[in-house]
Amino acid sequence: MSDQFTPDEQHVSAPLRLFNSLTRTVDPFAPIDPNHTRVYSCGPTVYNYAHLGNLRAYVFTDTLRRTLLWKGMDVTHIINITDVGHLTSDADAGDDKMEAAARAQAKSIWDIAAHYTQAFKQNIADLNILPPSEWTVATDYVPQMIEFAKKIAPDHCYELDSGLYFDSSTVPDYGALAGGRDDAAHARIDPVAGKRNPSDFAIWRKSPPGEQRQMEWDSPWGKGAPGWHLECSVMSQARLGHPFDIHTGGIDHREIHHPNEIAQNQAYCGCTDAQPGFTGARWWMHNNFLVDRQGKMSKSKGGFTTLFSLIDAGVHPLAYRLLCLGAHYRSELEFSAESVGAALTRLKRLIMAVEGLKSRAEGVTWQSPRLDYLRANLHPKLAPLLEQFDAAISDDLMTPRALPLLEEAIALKKVPVDEKLCLIAAFDQALGLNLLTISRADLRLTPKDAQMTPEAVEAELDRRQAARADRNFALSDEIRDALVERGVDVMDGDPLRWEWRPNLG
Ligand code: AMP
Ligand code: ZN
Repeated sequence: MSDQFTPDEQHVSAPLRLFNSLTRTVDPFAPIDPNHTRVYSCGPTVYNYAHLGNLRAYVFTDTLRRTLLWKGMDVTHIINITDVGHLTSDADAGDDKMEAAARAQAKSIWDIAAHYTQAFKQNIADLNILPPSEWTVATDYVPQMIEFAKKIAPDHCYELDSGLYFDSSTVPDYGALAGGRDDAAHARIDPVAGKRNPSDFAIWRKSPPGEQRQMEWDSPWGKGAPGWHLECSVMSQARLGHPFDIHTGGIDHREIHHPNEIAQNQAYCGCTDAQPGFTGARWWMHNNFLVDRQGKMSKSKGGFTTLFSLIDAGVHPLAYRLLCLGAHYRSELEFSAESVGAALTRLKRLIMAVEGLKSRAEGVTWQSPRLDYLRANLHPKLAPLLEQFDAAISDDLMTPRALPLLEEAIALKKVPVDEKLCLIAAFDQALGLNLLTISRADLRLTPKDAQMTPEAVEAELDRRQAARADRNFALSDEIRDALVERGVDVMDGDPLRWEWRPNLG
């Protein structure tokens, strides 16, 4: 490494600034405990496979987590699994999504939950999302939910035949996170008869008389099940304590789920006067939607695209991660065959360039660079890129600004290859694209409907090579055309030799 930088010449790293949905501004971030950030992310409702829009929410939280780690903090990150309580309607009416799925598939709720939880964890692993410090499962916390509800019930709740409801007028500034209380919007969504205010919501839903639910618990308000919003208040409090640092979710949660959590947290803490502005978490952060041509991608609409279907089409999951990183988390992102195809091509170029660098590298020091060491020792041509990258991700996780800096670093001429790889490895700690560990061959996923096996493709290419050696160009062209016809791109002069053309319809 170059010794032209001495520690006292180090650039000061950029202060971390994050958008807070509470203030609607990008504010300087500091955790409550120095150097330790506590994050809670609303997890999936496991009645179906996560669609790509849901997964965008977890690529966002992973970018947040990796950025906090990059800034030298320890992070405790909780993601919950919602296996009870989320209703098919945003109002407190309709079926529990889990009950409905179990009925439709003639399975037990527990089987449904186990299946889709496992599938979700597989998605998380495929996207190289760091597993949370802990997964909390809603049904493991029902006794704590009942205790929580018992504490807030006297001053904040009222009972109807259908359950225990939270009176949203008992807390100050209800709905502030959503930009103010919007009774008209709540009234539009099918109110439950007897509610005092349209924005009141269920804390506990009683099982209808004569109907046995698959999942129900005894409570002071009768047999039933907890409301969805209660879960997150209880689990975040149990695992992180209130207030903690950052609560995340998709932007839809900014309107109902999170304002309701905040109302419960205020009621439980009873500290609305002593601590004005107490919400349970100091930062509330929301990712924008993944949209397709039909609008917001959603599970209830059906026809959604899952990560599994993308993999079946021959698209490596990290291409979807790269697609997400190419847009700022607060912007809408359009998903289409073209956008994900372009992300796959971009990923292939990156991996090919890194492979080239690795083949020319002398040492292995790039495998685990320490940022402070890099700062002090990096080649003068690379050092500004490190600072710019740091500034980009510190500026409310501006990954679309960070990615071109990675590409710039790769393309820089006349810098030692090992140092370049060091810098790329450092960038990848924040980006999570596995740039140094995957190869282009790993990116070549066989589409589910492939007409040939990889071995058969290789055999055909060997036959083509022999034809060319015999100067039988007609046969060589015929073999190539037949391969192209069957979805195989032949790459003359490239050591990889061939690739599948993803089948994105
Ligand atoms: P759910 O499983 O419905 O509880 O949602 C899991 C996460 O995905 C939540 O944080 C949602 O806000 C988020 N989400 C749902 N649809 C989308 C979408 N189309 N784009 C981005 N995030 C979404
Ligand atoms: Zn939640």
